[in-house]
Amino acid sequence: MFVARDRIPVAGPSITDREVELCAEASRTAWYENHNVYNARFERMLAEYVGVAYAVSLPHCTAALHLALAALGIGPGDEVIGPDVTWIASMAPVTYVGAEPVLVDILPDTWCIDPNAVEAAIGPATKAIIGVDLYGSVCDWERLEAIAARHGLFLIEDAAEALGSQLKARKAGAFGSVSTFSFHGSKTVTTGEGGMLATNDAELFDRVLRLRDHGRKPGDRFFLNEEIAFKYRMSAVQAALGVAQMERIDALIAQKRAIFGWYRERFGDTLGIVLNAEPEGVTNSYWMVTAVPDAGLGLDKFDLMAGLEKRNIDSRPFFSRLSTLRAFQGRERVKRFVAPGDKGVHASTCGVNLPSGYNMSEDLVDIVCRAFRDVLAKRL
Ligand SMILES: *Cc1c(COP(=O)(O)O)cnc(C)c1O
Repeated sequence: MFVARDRIPVAGPSITDREVELCAEASRTAWYENHNVYNARFERMLAEYVGVAYAVSLPHCTAALHLALAALGIGPGDEVIGPDVTWIASMAPVTYVGAEPVLVDILPDTWCIDPNAVEAAIGPATKAIIGVDLYGSVCDWERLEAIAARHGLFLIEDAAEALGSQLKARKAGAFGSVSTFSFHGSKTVTTGEGGMLATNDAELFDRVLRLRDHGRKPGDRFFLNEEIAFKYRMSAVQAALGVAQMERIDALIAQKRAIFGWYRERFGDTLGIVLNAEPEGVTNSYWMVTAVPDAGLGLDKFDLMAGLEKRNIDSRPFFSRLSTLRAFQGRERVKRFVAPGDKGVHASTCGVNLPSGYNMSEDLVDIVCRAFRDVLAKRL
């Protein structure tokens, strides 16, 4: 059996001397009156890159989603529609504010929320829709915006996996009332752990600033809290890491696209493998190369992972349907619009994320593809 000599990780960042330099600089200088300098720079760089007016740096994207929902005033008795197939962080915050998630199906090609399924799930309690740009794909934002407008709903874009993706002239993160990003170590841009909330709405932005700082007015020096809220801030050293990453954003996205290109050249359509979609009008930043083999092969994602593992290659399963997870056991209302059982969405059953970290060279992609072909040929 062909085995990779050194273990190939599934994800990992690109860190240069520039990141190290700015982190060192921040740990020396980002104190006293300069404590917010790197955070402000990072926020401005992201807002300008995405094309939104306001951005706020946070400890993680989960906090960004929590704050987005809280700032929009969503709470007990409200329902928020989101995709059944996503990382749990997209939907868990709905429960943090006491509202009810409502899960609906994704589209088979882009793996993003199905606008028809969203419309079918709208009811009197619906307050918002969360669209998730999965694995670098972008949602059908034009339709989602039209649906949200028609029904008077808030639209939240979870762009954690799609920094640098684009739909026509607009970047991922520029859709809806508010958008969120993650800078977890596996993501396209990293600060170790980190997140950002972005919006064009000045009032919403002000509300978020208060909610993330224990209910203090921005600039409050008297410690006079106006309400009980949350504490979600990113440290200056993390923000400095983010600044260095944003200086390199175009090169980072180009590298992600190059890695995907190497996989696509090797797989094409020949093996009945479907990779991340890039429909007309879309630029995909390919956060993670995702391969979905034909159902006819009879291998599910956990078989594929086990086969790759034996060959010293790390991979990840395509996100499972949230409705099938133990985490959502007993929440029957949450699942009322999705098919019961754990079959259904083919990509979610059979897809895997292949190594897509910034350490990937064309030679390493070769090794992964060779191993993956082996696994698909059931040389398990
Ligand atoms: C990574 C991720 C998150 C959560 O990000 P954290 O920074 O880890 O909180 C949310 N949504 C999606 C789709 C993600 O991939």
